Amino acid sequence: MSDEKAKTLKDIFKEIESERCLLHRVIRLLDEFIDGPMCGRCLPCPMGSYEMRIRVRNLIEGRGGREDIDAIREIVPKMFISSMCKRGKDVAEYIEKSLKEQEDVYVAHATGRCPERVCKALIRYRVIPEKCTMCGDCLEVCKDFAIVGEKKAPYRTGYLPFEIVDKRCSRCGECIKVCQYGAIEIVDVAEQEPQQVGV
Ligand code: SF4
Ligand code: SF4
Ligand code: SF4
Repeated sequence: MSDEKAKTLKDIFKEIESERCLLHRVIRLLDEFIDGPMCGRCLPCPMGSYEMRIRVRNLIEGRGGREDIDAIREIVPKMFISSMCKRGKDVAEYIEKSLKEQEDVYVAHATGRCPERVCKALIRYRVIPEKCTMCGDCLEVCKDFAIVGEKKAPYRTGYLPFEIVDKRCSRCGECIKVCQYGAIEIVDVAEQEPQQVGV
């Protein structure tokens, strides 16, 4: 038998504070609440939590739009009023407060931008060609073989700056750490390819 103590909602609220992105805090709260303290005895609490989890995930994964924000806004007061115990009410209250105080973060995600540049579906890593010295350091640390380029040798010419193949990039961030020339940047997907979202 496991000695591990079940997490309380208080533990979860404390743990999620380590997430930089607000929506990562919210999705982690919902995931852990659903998998843990939520008992399912009254319907509005699980129904609201599951629905909001889908909506927040849409926003994080770049499929979201204004309709997801509107749905969350509609769910939270209902969940707050109808939840039978304090746990359901606390979760609803946390999300309602986050939406009220930081609506701009929700809206940014709905338009394809994560202000903290954390949501992997909403960012791209890119080599700045003018800054790349073709040193090859990034190539060595990229475990996903997402970087293409040939390391510069002093006795040869005709080199091209390195490039990142987006489809292969897992957004691990290792390349940016090793590039001494500041030649790798993180850009918003929205900046590169304007999205058709319902806003
Ligand atoms: S509000 Fe409380 S009683 Fe109702 S499902 Fe949620 S945790 Fe269970
Ligand atoms: S580490 Fe930086 S400068 Fe070196 S090849 Fe990669 S992007 Fe270019
Ligand atoms: S972020 Fe990671 S996977 Fe993407 S190019 Fe850089 S090292 Fe490779």
